[in-house]
Order: sequence, then structure tokens, then C-alpha cells
Amino acid sequence: MTTASGGPGGVTGEEWSAAVEAVRGLAPGADGDEVQLICHVNPDGDALGSMLGFALALRKSGITRLRATFPGEFELPVPYQSLPGVDLLVPESGAFEAPKAVITFDVAAESRLGGLVRLLDAPCVIVVDHHASNTRFGRLNLVDPRAAATSVVVEGLLTRLDVPLDAEIAECLYVALATDTGSFKFDMTTPEVHELAARLIATGISPGDISRRIFDTRPFGAMKLAGDVLGRAALDPAAAAGHGMVWTYATLDDLRRYGQRPYVLDSLIDPIRSVAEADVAVVVKQTGDDEWAVSLRSKGAVDVSAVAVALGGGGHRFAAGFTGHGTPGDVVTAVRARLEDHLL
Ligand code: 5GP
Ligand code: MN
Repeated sequence: MTTASGGPGGVTGEEWSAAVEAVRGLAPGADGDEVQLICHVNPDGDALGSMLGFALALRKSGITRLRATFPGEFELPVPYQSLPGVDLLVPESGAFEAPKAVITFDVAAESRLGGLVRLLDAPCVIVVDHHASNTRFGRLNLVDPRAAATSVVVEGLLTRLDVPLDAEIAECLYVALATDTGSFKFDMTTPEVHELAARLIATGISPGDISRRIFDTRPFGAMKLAGDVLGRAALDPAAAAGHGMVWTYATLDDLRRYGQRPYVLDSLIDPIRSVAEADVAVVVKQTGDDEWAVSLRSKGAVDVSAVAVALGGGGHRFAAGFTGHGTPGDVVTAVRARLEDHLL
């Protein structure tokens, strides 16, 4: 069997077996066990795609007492509203009260579950993830830090459950894989990633249509907003011991001015991190009066996951985030002060 995860440093044989047994043990049908699927707050393509792909696979296997959710505001970025399986999504308040099983996707730590953390009392809790910083808060943990996306781990589980891929499941897993590999551009784009993509595409999905819809479509106002935010970017060549840092920020007023929702800011880290003179890229996005969601990226000189952890967040070595306070300048000063502690 070819999978894109597993082996040393990944999920052990015992962990796979225990998870397969737990999922197979769920009683199907209208009177069956309640199964609550959860992904992280402000879900991205990997979180939603992995969760919905697995949800569709469970439904296909006869598990019908099934809900999918994420904490916080129940607002799905427009591009994801057409993902297969969105009919299984409920707001946080619509989650099962006392499910038999809880399965989390792309959730690195309990802090990413918001109020849904209460459901971790369930008899069966399976954590499906690929963050090295994962705190292993499940009873069963399928965590493979070498997997390019959580959807790689999901596909490994589906293979072991003998659930075949169909086009709907494949579309969800493909969106997840394309999201976390930067459309197959990042370093973890291994032969196994392309083999998985090939299996997904072979179900009949259309990568061109999916990419255009998910990654390359935005409202005119979002494009104009991007112009403002990119226009105020600042370069700090001396930061990170001379590796350089480029940063910008976006306020709630920016969003209001162009009538845009916060998620449209998430893709702005990509043009920012393309700056040749900087290893580290930072986008500081206002989420409240004194609160900012911070995205960090590095091209290889800095472990930004360690920087994020030092500031109360987490993520991957070269892509991480945290919640900051004060002015955007305060937030960036706090980041800058920690870069030299985490040079690679
Ligand atoms: P992004 O910048 O795309 O929002 O996030 C990059 C990576 O950092 C993702 O893996 C995401 O899960 C993680 N991340 C972003 N913000 C936070 C945070 O506040 N806490 C933790 N633990 N991880 C975060
Ligand atoms: Mn992910």
C-alpha cells in the first residue's frame, strides 16, 4: 500500500489499528452512535477539507448521526461554501451535547477548539493532525508531522478502513492538500504528495476548476483592499540577524471600507513572503479592539513555530501564527525581538 504518511516519526501501526478499530466500532444508522467532527477555529482549506472529506466517507459507510463543526463565528469563507459535505456543517451551538465519538482535524492544541473543548470528555476522542507542535490531547492520536496536510493522514485512515475514494471525498481532500502545499509548491511536496494527488484526480475531479474557485477568485473590493495592505508593507533588513523581515497590517476599518470579511486577508501573506530581501514575513490582522491574528512565514532561516509558541501560538516550522495585543507596531516588535532566538 502506498500512503503519504506513516513509518518512523509518523503514526505507529498500533495507533492506526486502534483508530481503525474505534471507527469500525461506531454503530451506524439512525439510532447509531453520535459522532462529532471538529476542525480548528477560523478553518482553512486543510481543516475544512480534511474534516468534510472524512465526514463524507463516514456517511458513505452508513454513519448517519454525524455533525461537523468548528468553534467561533459560523461563517464559511465564500470559496469553501461549495465544498462537498457542507450540508453536514452546523454552528458550534448545534454540536451534539454528549457524542460517543469526537474526531478533530488539523487541531494542534485544545486552545484551537474554543468552547468545543468541553466535548473532549467523550468516550472516544481521535485527534487527526500533522502539526509537530500537536499536544496529543486525544485518547487516540493520529499525528504525522511529516505529512504535508492533515488530509494525508485522513487518506491513510480511509485506506485502512477500506473506504474507497469518490469524487466528492477526493475534492475535499484535494483542496486540503493543495492548501497546505501552497498548490504543490512548498518543500513538503514529496513524491507521495503527488501520488496522493494523482489518486484524488483519478476520481474525476477537475483541478483547474477547483483551483480557480478556491484560490484564484476574489471580489473586486478584496483586490482593492489588498492594494492598500500591500502598499503599507515595511522592510526591516536588519531583523533576524540580517536575514530580514517584511511586514504589514490590516485593520477592521480596512475591511469595513471595502465591505470585506476577515478571511480575505489570509491570502495576503503570500505576496508579502515573496519579497526577496526578507526571510521572515509577517501579516498582522486586526480581530478586535486590541486583538490581532498574526501570520508568520520563514524561507528557512528562522523557526517561526518556536517564535509563535513563545508568543502563545503555534504552527509549523516555516508557517505559524499567534494572537497579539497592542498596536500592530507593538506586535511586530514582539516578533522581531524573538527572531534571533530561533535562527536555524
Ligand atoms: P496562518 O498564518 O495561515 O493563519 O497559520 C499558519 C499556521 O499556524 C497554521 O498551521 C495554523 O494552524 C497555525 N496557527 C495560526 N495561528 C495560530 C494560533 O493562534 N495558535 C496556534 N497554536 N497555531 C496557529
Ligand atoms: Mn494543516
